[in-house]
Amino acid sequence: MKRVIVFGGGFAGLSAAVYLSENNFEVTLLEASPKLGGRAYSLLNDSQNDIYDNGQHILMGCYEETIAFLNKINSIDKLDIQESLSIPFVKRGGSIHKLDSKKYSYPLNLLHGFINYKALSLKERLKVADFFLDMLFCYSCDLKDKTVSEWLKCKKQSDNSIKAFWEILVVGALNTTIDNASAEIFEEVLERIFLTGSKSASILLPKVGLTQLYVEDSVQFIADRNAKINLSEKVIQIVTEGNTVTSIITDRNTYNDFDYVVAAIPALAFEKIKIISNQKFEFPDLQYSPIVNVHLWLKENPFIEQFYGLIDSKIHWVFNNGKHISLTTSAADILAKMENEKIVDEFSSELEKYFPIFHKEIIIDSKVVKEKRATFVPDVVSNQLRKNFILSFENLFFAGDWINTGLPSTIESAVLSGRLAASNVITSLK
Ligand SMILES: Cc1cc2nc3c(=O)[nH]c(=O)nc-3n(C[C@H](O)[C@H](O)[C@H](O)COP(=O)(O)OP(=O)(O)OC[C@H]3O[C@@H](n4cnc5c(N)ncnc54)[C@H](O)[C@@H]3O)c2cc1C
Repeated sequence: MKRVIVFGGGFAGLSAAVYLSENNFEVTLLEASPKLGGRAYSLLNDSQNDIYDNGQHILMGCYEETIAFLNKINSIDKLDIQESLSIPFVKRGGSIHKLDSKKYSYPLNLLHGFINYKALSLKERLKVADFFLDMLFCYSCDLKDKTVSEWLKCKKQSDNSIKAFWEILVVGALNTTIDNASAEIFEEVLERIFLTGSKSASILLPKVGLTQLYVEDSVQFIADRNAKINLSEKVIQIVTEGNTVTSIITDRNTYNDFDYVVAAIPALAFEKIKIISNQKFEFPDLQYSPIVNVHLWLKENPFIEQFYGLIDSKIHWVFNNGKHISLTTSAADILAKMENEKIVDEFSSELEKYFPIFHKEIIIDSKVVKEKRATFVPDVVSNQLRKNFILSFENLFFAGDWINTGLPSTIESAVLSGRLAASNVITSLK
């Protein structure tokens, strides 16, 4: 049996470990922190006896790799899967405009959904439809090295349609503003969501906490195949000879007895690892963007829908988790520096403006989670840096959402990168 060391226990590392264990490799998974899950994990609110996540994670029907991974570890039933895209968008004052594609079949359902999205004027809706038709048939704007904002300008999208549609989509999917986001990456996202079938645009929400969604079942899957999992063990040094890795040194052990290594940690984390090698290791110098989540426990829960998108608000999404609600703000640079109490206060005032059914007085508990480096910024420069990252070792493979998958910093990119690293290991054996 060939031995593989996987280090990093987020989606990417777990995906690599699952695929390698399935293919009869003896896996040792090393994770620096005391828990698995990386940037997607659950916490316990003791006083409310309730689980909440470090940040609400949305999956989509087009997350083919993630869906295959969750199927493999037998946890797909822990997701609530929409039949087709349906999002209630809320304006200040409480009016709700649904982007709904339940009627008709694909692709007419999506066209019908956009044409009936009344947060935009009819002219604006037709312009949005024209944008997608252009993507389908001709691409009248050159996207190379362009930002999303330049693309939208080229396609003459109005300020209102940018605010009430495009910005919500870009900030939600890419965790950065339209001025920063790469048009090429956004195009890839749009294609996968809207142009690959009816199910691709539907939203998938975990029915359980993230740890229960994928960490526990991954651990079960790999433990059943004799994998070892060492928590609180950090890789601090990689030693190579020629184009082979010969030792992995952690803060607890030295490993020499392995055939392959999969490094599944963020690009930034390599800064803290000493690498002894003749080859120059140059990891992409990516920028990072924060996400802030506020979780509120309420005396009684007045929210009806499973989630809401807020138009032109400092809160981008409200998720109704039953026992508590979660408010999400992406590209949250300002909030990430604010005191938690002030954030809760500002968010509850904002909620009152959007939901007349909501009053601050019903809040009984709150938690704020600031993830300062939630995702890398998928800007024009990041695209190039990711493409340029090539290292050639015969027994070392890289995984992580930052690998050049063509996708933004998402679960799908992480899971795909893990599966690809595993498949490279398998191929190199043949
Ligand atoms: C608040 C928030 C909301 C998000 N929302 C969404 C969403 O809605 N949809 C979506 O698709 N994506 C979302 N994302 C992004 C998604 O969580 C990440 O893209 C994904 O989890 C990255 O997985 P990864 O395995 O590549 O990296 P990570 O999850 O960062 O895992 C890397 C692991 O490596 C470990 N490690 C680091 N250094 C070492 C070392 N030297 N030795 C051993 N181990 C080490 C770390 O402790 C960590 O566990 C969100 C992220 C955040 C933070």
